[in-house]
Amino acid sequence: MVHEHPPMDDLTTLSPAEVLETLESVPFLAPYALALYCETRGLICPEGQHFKLFGPCSHSLLCDDQCRPIHENALSQAITRNEPGVFRCKSGLLNFIVPFKLTRSQTCCLLGGGVRAPELDLSTSKLLSLAREINDPGLVEDIEKLPIHSEEDLQVVAGRVAQLMDGTQGDNLLRLAFEKTMMRLNAVTGMLPEFDRATNVEQIFQLLGETLTVLFDLPRAAVILAADAARKPVLRGLGQWLEQTVSLSEEQIGLLLRAQERRHFFLEEEDCLGQLPGVKGESANCLPLVYGNRSLGTLALFDADLAPRDLLLIELLAGRAAMRMASLESEREQSLEARISAQIIQMVSDFSLLDQREALFSRILDLTAELLCASKGSLMVLDEDGEHLFIAAGKGMNPELARNMRVRVGSGIAGRVVSSGHSLLVNDIEKDDRVRSANRPRFRTKSFLSIPLRVRGEIFAVLNLSDKENQATFDETDLRILSAFAPHFSALIERTTSLEHAAAMEELSITDPLTGLYNRRFLERRMEEEISRSLRQSLSLTIIMLDLDNFKHYNDLCGHLAGDKALKRTARILRHSAREMDIVTRFGGEEFCILLPATSKKESLLVAERIRHAIEKESFFREQHLPTGKLTASMGLASFPVDGNTARTLINAADIALYRAKSAGRNRSVVFEPSFRGDQASSA
Ligand code: GH3
Ligand code: MG
Ligand code: MG
Repeated sequence: MVHEHPPMDDLTTLSPAEVLETLESVPFLAPYALALYCETRGLICPEGQHFKLFGPCSHSLLCDDQCRPIHENALSQAITRNEPGVFRCKSGLLNFIVPFKLTRSQTCCLLGGGVRAPELDLSTSKLLSLAREINDPGLVEDIEKLPIHSEEDLQVVAGRVAQLMDGTQGDNLLRLAFEKTMMRLNAVTGMLPEFDRATNVEQIFQLLGETLTVLFDLPRAAVILAADAARKPVLRGLGQWLEQTVSLSEEQIGLLLRAQERRHFFLEEEDCLGQLPGVKGESANCLPLVYGNRSLGTLALFDADLAPRDLLLIELLAGRAAMRMASLESEREQSLEARISAQIIQMVSDFSLLDQREALFSRILDLTAELLCASKGSLMVLDEDGEHLFIAAGKGMNPELARNMRVRVGSGIAGRVVSSGHSLLVNDIEKDDRVRSANRPRFRTKSFLSIPLRVRGEIFAVLNLSDKENQATFDETDLRILSAFAPHFSALIERTTSLEHAAAMEELSITDPLTGLYNRRFLERRMEEEISRSLRQSLSLTIIMLDLDNFKHYNDLCGHLAGDKALKRTARILRHSAREMDIVTRFGGEEFCILLPATSKKESLLVAERIRHAIEKESFFREQHLPTGKLTASMGLASFPVDGNTARTLINAADIALYRAKSAGRNRSVVFEPSFRGDQASSA
């Protein structure tokens, strides 16, 4: 029976196979054999592993009917209690099980195993008799080879999985899956130029075969090539799995080439696959190899359970392969190499590392334009009032024009995409009823594509592409590709925005992350307040500027990490030596400033000396290597109102005193005197 593949309307929802695949890439799950049980689908095991049996024990025989009741019991308990658990198979091997909701109505369980407990005694007669019972003399040896994990280890892992799956389809898993898809998208995009570089059809097939095997784990793929004057129609395997080219009968050709009429279809064993010598496929996903309106054949993927996103990526590959086949065949070899430069390969490879919104916008635009061969495009973002769109990134347009262009929501093409919430795929701007308007002279073709980008359901931007190369028009596949990756782009933009937000928050914060002390921004604000209070209440106020001696030397000798530790330790000493009312801050680098309200210079000098002694006495890591044998500090003191009546002048005075302390030999406290200013001026 031939039927079309199920619709792919919700591409952001993960299929069970994708969930399992995503979990397999989580580092802390690497040691375990994993399987996923879904109420609707039964047990799903990873591709290539022979879990014919119920549980995920790595030793297949062990899990034969012997273990089935144990697994079934663990499964039903986990689902009823909705709690992760750890259990043992008959042989004593450990397994964990974690129930979670895949969708609101569907419960799944992740099963993990293939490890043995440290206390499992390999010499027990129980195990030996089990080996005899199932007639496997190598059983004990096989078990011995399994990695050792304790029951507690598995409990921790089960707990971590449960956390990861909490609010499934929500953030954690989806983010992981997105990262994975982005990696594949990058890899596929990186491969596209390789197709363009192929100099003969053999190379194209080889590339297709390798990419499908390496990236998608699809070793059993074939191309079905239509007949032409010189050749009969054939099916040939990509890679080594199918030894020879298979000639096809009329009926088989009819079925296998049907993909030309449809984008993608599915064949089952009774269709014809069973009759193809050497193929032995139970099902095949078939994709057309078409370029423009030229049909070059069909790509068949045997026995593949493909996620919608992967299918789209493969379509992309098939499209590119067909494009190259067409250009080779008709001997219109254009030098595409120049177009797809090393720069683009670089661009996609570090795509997900970008932290800046602006740069990310341009890369998204460049990447999508490259994918769909669009020579013009823009990424338009809604402004704060949500009423206008401005161009955040433009391609093939005058930058000055781009900077000044504003589009009101509801008008123009992008504006209408925002107000309607729907993508627009237009073949001919002058004839399409939805947009009907004259083509503007800066566009060479009348076809374009505009799609909305959403974060948490809200549209925040519109991606527009136009002027497809070779005067071609955009089609449904282009729209599907773009729509499929739109959520990924949105997720990346959101991530970047939140990173920038975090940076902005840090900017506004008042504490220094290394020492936990207040920072300079806070000090300056507080000083103004303290100064006006002192003025009102006629109190004095003193500041101590402290600078560690030869700290550069200390860093050079002991390393930056030791330096950081010494800074933290100094901060602790300052906190302990200062009084409740004093305000201790890290002024910057290895400089600290202490604000002592209602304290005279004389009293402050006592505090300063106490601190200086404490630092001198403290044993800092490897300080004996310093020329003086110990890490010390110098200090300068200045008081309000005598030495200055603003934050700036007071800090300046304390700094001058500190400079004095340094030039007098370091490890000392110096109180500011007005004469220092004159001295400084004359020495300058
Ligand atoms: P002086 O006795 O004259 O103050 O000499 P110094 O070496 O302490 O002064 P200088 O200003 O030349 O060097 C200060 C050094 O402090 C430079 C830098 O390596 C180090 N430093 C500044 N901030 C940090 C930090 O956050 N961590 C570490 N480990 N070192 C820092
Ligand atoms: Mg310094
Ligand atoms: Mg210093």
